[in-house]
Parts: sequence; C-alpha cells; structure tokens
Amino acid sequence: MSKPTIYIAAGHGGNDPGAVSGKYIEKALTLKTALACQNYLRNYECETVMARTTDKSCTVAYKMEEVEKKRPSLVLEIHYNAGGGEGCEVYYWHTHAPSKSLAQKVLAEMVKLGQKSRGIKESKAGTSYNFGMCRQAATTGIPSILGEYAFVDNAKDQAKINSDAKLRAVGEAYAKAAVSYLGLRKRSTAGDAPSTKPEAIGVGDIVQFTGGKVYASSTAATAASTRGASKCKVTATAPGAKHPFHCISEDGKGVYGWVDAAAVGAPTAAKPVEVGCTVTINKGAVYGGLTSARGNKVPAAQLAPKKHTVSKIQVNKDVQEALLKEITSWVAVSSLTRV
Ligand SMILES: [Zn+2]
Repeated sequence: MSKPTIYIAAGHGGNDPGAVSGKYIEKALTLKTALACQNYLRNYECETVMARTTDKSCTVAYKMEEVEKKRPSLVLEIHYNAGGGEGCEVYYWHTHAPSKSLAQKVLAEMVKLGQKSRGIKESKAGTSYNFGMCRQAATTGIPSILGEYAFVDNAKDQAKINSDAKLRAVGEAYAKAAVSYLGLRKRSTAGDAPSTKPEAIGVGDIVQFTGGKVYASSTAATAASTRGASKCKVTATAPGAKHPFHCISEDGKGVYGWVDAAAVGAPTAAKPVEVGCTVTINKGAVYGGLTSARGNKVPAAQLAPKKHTVSKIQVNKDVQEALLKEITSWVAVSSLTRV
C-alpha cells in the first residue's frame, strides 16, 4: 500500500512576490513555512510533494495540473494575507465537506500558536475567493485548503512572523493538522517495538538487542547467558532451528553470542567509517596493508574499547581498509565499529 502523500504549495514565487509590506514578502514567508511543514512531516509515515522549494515561479495552473497527476492525499496551499485585517483564516471549497474539516483542523492549530481567529471561510465561484486550488477539490475529491496565517501589513501580525522560529511553528501547524486529519503514524526508530522482519537485518547493522538469552552457537543447544537490552552489531547470520539467528557483538565490549532473531529490534543505519572518525577494532580483526604483517591478529590490547582514529581509507588487495593513526596500521573497514 502506498503511503499517504501531502502536497505542500508555497504560494506565489519567482516574479510573483504576492503581498509585500516592507521586509515582509509573501513569497519568501510562504516558502519558509512550506519547508518547515515538510520537515515536520519527515517524522511521519507519509510522503510529501513540494510545489516549489526555491524562489521560482509557480502558477496556480501548474499546481492544479500536478495535483491532478499525482493524486495526493491532501493539499495544503500556504499564503499570507494583506489589505487591512488581523489574524488567521483558512479557505475551503464551499461544497466539499472533507476540505471543510481539514480547514477546521488547520485553523485550530494556528489558533494554538496564539493567533487571533477569523474563522474558516468558503471559497466560492463568483466571489474574490474563487481559489483554483480549493475549487479543484470538488472535481478531484482531494481535501484541499488555502491558509492565511497573518497579515503582512499589520503590525501585530508582523510580530508573529518576524523570525524563522515563528515561521517554523506556522509550518508545523499545517503539518500537525495533516497528521491529525490523515491519522499519520510516527516513523519507527531504533528502540521501538522489535522488528517482526528479521530477514531485513544483515551483517554490519547496528541493532537493538531487546534482551533475552545469548547462545553459544546458532543451533541454540544451550543458553550461554542472559543479557539485558543493548545496542549490538550483527557480525554474522545463520539459520536456526526455528528462526534465523544473528551473531552479535555488543558495541565496544567485544561480547559475542548468537541470539534468536526475534530478540533483535530494527536496525539503525550504521554510521559509515570515514577519514577523521573514531573507531574501535572488533574482536577477531587482523592487520591489513601490504607488508608482512598482513593477516596477523590484532593484539587484544588494541581491540575495543580502545579507540583509534582513521587517517586514511584505501583498497589493499581488494579489501577496503582504514589506516589507524595510533598504531600506524591498516585494518579492514569491516572489522571496525564507528563510535
Ligand atoms: Zn497569497
């Protein structure tokens, strides 16, 4: 099933500045707000489509065509007001009930920021509020609103949009309304519920060991020990009697053991080993490089938790290896853990 998609449109842009009052230029305000909205939504199970991410021309016709093509789950059209007034208002197409309920949510989030409410308002043919992006909801069925958080030419309202932090909060208000309307779930991160898809975990992944038995071998004949939850690196995988097993080492502690894959949480992206970073050497590592020392075991005193600094990375004999500054020796990158 494809993820919900939110279409975020920063009003105006390029040679169309929108409303202008001194340093308050609508096209710039809407862009900052839209980018903040997108940024907030990165934490949720959804996708975003941006009408624009730079100061470029972006006509209503172009946006309507994009919505028609991409069929997002909802549309947020972001504007700022002008012309004498104070407070926020949110427009929706007058015959489209889903847009109306989205408009109510957006308005409620704006009011939470302390902004004065002018209410939700009908977008309608034959009025000056016949907005294309709102009108389109009637034909596409996609909930669509047009928000106006503040008046760029009102001193009280200007004080509510005079910093990046304030504009970010406005962007987040739109995002929170979308989250609530679509019932979006937060993206899962390490430490959340254990993964039920152990096959997704591979060698080199940093995983959350959720606690339980650590076995001496992948056949799980005997439980070697029981350990608490900790972050571990997967060093090998093997099929077990019932489930796949992962061989793990606790980061920096060099403890090895096999665990039932069901006791391992979702992997987090392992930070890559790169020049300048600090690493520890995993148990079992051997020296690399092109001298006679190649293949010799790295002595225990140099292994984790001892820290080393990577001063160079290159391929020696088809193996990607890192030159460690403290010992002036090469060790395979796959035998290192970034700390
Ligand atoms: Zn506008």
